[in-house]
Amino acid sequence: MKNFSELGLSEAVAIAIAELGFEKPTPIQSQVIPAMLESAKDLIALAQTGTGKTAAFGIPLVELIDTSAKKPQALVLAPTRELCVQIENDLKAFSAKTKHFYTVAVYGGANIRTQIDQLRKGVQVVVATPGRLIDLLGRRAVDLSQIKYLVLDEADEMLNMGFQEDIDEILSTTPKEKVTWLFSATMPTEIKSISKKYMKSPMEISAGNVNQTNANIEHQYYLVQPKNKYAALKRILDYNPDIYGIIFCRTKAETQEIAEKLIKDGYNADSLHGDLSQMQRDKVMLAFRERTLQMLIATDVAARGIDIDNLTHIINLHLPDDMDFYTHRSGRTARAGKTGISLVLISEKDLYKIKHLERKLQMQFKKMTVPSGIEVCEKQLLNMIHRVHEVEVNEAEIAKYLPVIEKEFADMTKEDVLKKFASLEFNRFLEYYRFAEDLNIGERREVREYATKKGNNDLMFINLGKMDNLGAKELVEMVKQVGNVRPHDIGDIRLKGAYSFFELPANQSQRVVQAFNGFVYRGRRVRVEIQNERQEFPKKKAHKGGSREMKPYKGKRK
Ligand code: AMP
Repeated sequence: MKNFSELGLSEAVAIAIAELGFEKPTPIQSQVIPAMLESAKDLIALAQTGTGKTAAFGIPLVELIDTSAKKPQALVLAPTRELCVQIENDLKAFSAKTKHFYTVAVYGGANIRTQIDQLRKGVQVVVATPGRLIDLLGRRAVDLSQIKYLVLDEADEMLNMGFQEDIDEILSTTPKEKVTWLFSATMPTEIKSISKKYMKSPMEISAGNVNQTNANIEHQYYLVQPKNKYAALKRILDYNPDIYGIIFCRTKAETQEIAEKLIKDGYNADSLHGDLSQMQRDKVMLAFRERTLQMLIATDVAARGIDIDNLTHIINLHLPDDMDFYTHRSGRTARAGKTGISLVLISEKDLYKIKHLERKLQMQFKKMTVPSGIEVCEKQLLNMIHRVHEVEVNEAEIAKYLPVIEKEFADMTKEDVLKKFASLEFNRFLEYYRFAEDLNIGERREVREYATKKGNNDLMFINLGKMDNLGAKELVEMVKQVGNVRPHDIGDIRLKGAYSFFELPANQSQRVVQAFNGFVYRGRRVRVEIQNERQEFPKKKAHKGGSREMKPYKGKRK
């Protein structure tokens, strides 16, 4: 791969990008930059966000603009406000050492008068969303008659957003003789027809195969029942305490619902959707950009133009109907040479879509298993221990409290302190996850499978029930773990409000009673007993005659 010094850059630009920490050009840059600088030819570049595409066209623009003239010479069209701001900032950075280089970003949702004033002062590069630019053209606030370079960034996104007509209108006001550079992550037929309509035998450059996703992204899928998706999502978030990413939902209503649930459950999450005012949207985006917000929940439309480096995960609660959207979603991680994970929670009926994507994008998904409750607890514990190890001590501030702290711990060994400290957070997760069910399809076993021949069984009573949030699966898991019983030895289960019954082989029942001795669940001391008299499982309705006692067991005796 080439070095920047081999690309024929001016000293001013070379210094500016060195100051940005760019050492080597990315693959798209080493192909596009020389092509743009050397020939005034149209060009189509297949590149996703994160490949360094902004610098691929931004650096040549800084080099090619005539800084002695203060007329718009380049127009960059981009689908969203966020992307415009990003591009303008990048252009300013690349031109930091170039004198008299002026650029402006114009987009909807911001004060148009301020933008008009900026345009009047004289700029050479206009970065715009199509809608706002049409508005400005209508007010004669912008003159595109001297445009020499036109950049269509994220062209496929602009078409997806319905900007085709606006683009046609804008292009009709630009000179025929100009160079057009089109960037797109995917190559749908509509893009091909744009290139036919507006471009002259363009060069085609691609940073990878057409429609292929970035190799630094690991694609994963989790097979779960639709009703378990939220629980699986929480497990994945808990298993990855340092996660920083976007959760994609299908609808606005779903983004809100998931965000509300996550916030209520104590996660650092917020939603981004079309109903937010620009101010609310900016607030959410600022928090996300600054990483004070860990998880952003968004629809495809709302997430357009979010270009944030270092996202660790993209979570797809459903696969999008349009498969190109998957490329766009996953391309928001693994930017600038980093690695990232794009994961899908999928039900059995949609599994074929995974195969379809693998074929279309020429990549492989890795099948994952939703972490078990215990795995989550272990991960959280180790993470907390690691944080304690790494935390920076503010010697000056903590010094005055040390005598009190030391006094408090004086009667404890180092080992005791460590145990207590670790338990503080660990207990919370353990309490929640101890008997959590397995959420993976195929490995989860229905309770009915545990039913076994009643004849050899004892009926067991336990003083926990639905009121303790205990489901049949949790009960099985509890008896398995505490009583050391194999799940298929557990017979029928009846859950009641404050108590429950389950069947156990008679030769294990006594041992299990003892194993539960002293066991505490969610603050309650648990009692397991063998029913003195064999009794049938209680019927749903109370028996006539008013007796609330269960009827004696009438089945065959051993
Ligand atoms: P983009 O694809 O333009 O959105 O760029 C993605 C990220 O890569 C941005 O944060 C850029 O600042 C960064 N970047 C672009 N080119 C390079 C390079 N040659 N070396 C290091 N980082 C780069």
